[in-house]
Amino acid sequence: PKGDRLIKLNTNENPYPPAPGVAEALKHMDIDRFRKYPDPAASDLVHALAEYYGVGDDQVFVGVGSDDVIAMSFLTFFNSDKPVLFPDVSYSFYKVWADLFAIPYETPALDEQFCIRPEDYYRENGGVIFPNPNAPTGRALSLAEIEDLLQHNADCVVIIDEAYVDFGAESAISLIEKYENLLVVQTSSKSRSLAGMRIGYAFGSETLISTLEAVKNSYNSYTMASLALAVGEASIRDEAYFRETCRKVAATRDRAADELRALGFEVTPSLANFLFATHPKKAAPEIFSALREKGIFIRY
Ligand SMILES: *Cc1c(COP(=O)(O)O)cnc(C)c1O
Repeated sequence: PKGDRLIKLNTNENPYPPAPGVAEALKHMDIDRFRKYPDPAASDLVHALAEYYGVGDDQVFVGVGSDDVIAMSFLTFFNSDKPVLFPDVSYSFYKVWADLFAIPYETPALDEQFCIRPEDYYRENGGVIFPNPNAPTGRALSLAEIEDLLQHNADCVVIIDEAYVDFGAESAISLIEKYENLLVVQTSSKSRSLAGMRIGYAFGSETLISTLEAVKNSYNSYTMASLALAVGEASIRDEAYFRETCRKVAATRDRAADELRALGFEVTPSLANFLFATHPKKAAPEIFSALREKGIFIRY
């Protein structure tokens, strides 16, 4: 949408500006660096992420937003004749990549409360992927449920897409040491207010990460721009601001949910930075159009 008096809620961007450390890094950016190719290993960003999340540098992979990281992971890890599994109501791009790369898939239904049923993922499959919290529902699995799912899927790669984890769910990064087949994907787009910079990353065993690196380097060694590498590193190092803005977004989410319920909406409990709601009397397309007239953009 174009215009200046808009409230744009439809892609879950962060309302707060990027961390002050990002502006600082831009001010001190030596533009002569742009003459040369960026570091293909993205070592400084990888190291900052490894330090922050308490993993080894060889357990971190970075890319042009998590969409790039996930697409590369589909290409690298999902190549069985058995179907990849992801929820029927989930991030719409999974289906697109599976179709593009000709990967068979099946989509188990969520339960009545819009929750993922871990037992649906216990059957034979060619890989598993789901967001935690899930989008667009905002519902999350506990770490115990994720661990259970991993124990039932030792022979395939399990990808947890943690695009919204910083707003209240538990990260599975702590499990990568124990499960060699677990890949945890995160992004700077939502919780770090950097959607425009295209910075995403994945955490996993050295085996998964070096395999991803090998595929990436057979395809495009220089995925991330020098500017994005510097901005990503500065953002990771500015922890206090990050914690504070995530806390504020979560508080606003809960207050907005209460207000919507007071207006008669049914709102699914959310651990993300968005709300999944329905109204018993008004149809979603009507609500969508009425809000759009007022310059407020949502999804239905
Ligand atoms: C936003 C989003 C992404 C992609 O984010 P990037 O901007 O590409 O990092 C991936 N998965 C889910 C579930 C998302 O909502």
